[in-house]
Amino acid sequence: IREFDFAVRELQQLALTDELTQIANRRFFDQQLKTELQKLRRTHLPLSVAVADIDRFKAINDIHGHEAGDEILKEFAHLMVSQLRAGDIVGRMGGEEFGLVFPNTELAMASRVCERLLETVRACKISIGGIELQFTASVGVTQADLQNTRPEPLIARADQLMYEAKAGGRDCVVAGEFDPVTNKEPASTSLG
Ligand code: GH3
Ligand code: MG
Ligand code: MG
Repeated sequence: IREFDFAVRELQQLALTDELTQIANRRFFDQQLKTELQKLRRTHLPLSVAVADIDRFKAINDIHGHEAGDEILKEFAHLMVSQLRAGDIVGRMGGEEFGLVFPNTELAMASRVCERLLETVRACKISIGGIELQFTASVGVTQADLQNTRPEPLIARADQLMYEAKAGGRDCVVAGEFDPVTNKEPASTSLG
C-alpha cells in the first residue's frame, strides 16, 4: 500500500511538472492561478499576474543549437524560482513563455519584481560548449480586478502587454491595468 501511495504521488508530480525545467507545467500553473483567484474573491487582496517570454529564442536555437536553448530555458526557470518570494507562483506556459502569479501584490510592486528579474537575466552568463551565452526576456504584467476573476482574460491581458514589451524593443517590462482583451476572440475553426 505504501508503495502504491508513493507511485500515485510520483505520477501526480509528473502530471504537474514540466519535465525540462522542473517547474509547474501549464496545467498546474492554471490550477494554482484559479485557486488564487478564488481566494481573491474572499479576501479582496491585490493579485498580479505576469507573462515572461524569452527574446529571439528561435535565433538562439538556430545559432547555438536546441540543447543550448534547453539550457537557457532551465536557467531562466531557475532564476525565476530563486528570485520569487514564498507564495509566488511560476509555471511554464509552453515553449519559451512562462507565467508568474504574485499574490497579495499591487501592480507597481509586481512590476518592480519583474524589472529585477530582467536585471538578473541580463547579468546571467551561461557557459555551453566553451562559450558564454546571454539572453533577455520581455514581460507583461497586470493586476487582477475583482469584477473579473476568470484566469483566461487575465493571462490574455498579460500576454498582450508582453507583446507591447516586444514591440517596445524587448528586454523590458510593460505594466498595464487589467482591461479585458476583446480583440482576441479565437477565430472559429469549425468547418461545418
Ligand atoms: P520573440 O523575441 O518575438 O519572442 O522571438 P522568439 O524567437 O523568441 O519567438 P518565436 O515564437 O519565433 O520562437 C520561439 C522558439 O522557441 C521556436 C521554438 O523552436 C523554440 N522552442 C519552443 N520550445 C522549446 C524547447 O523546449 N526547447 C528549445 N530549445 N526550443 C524551444
Ligand atoms: Mg520569444
Ligand atoms: Mg513565445
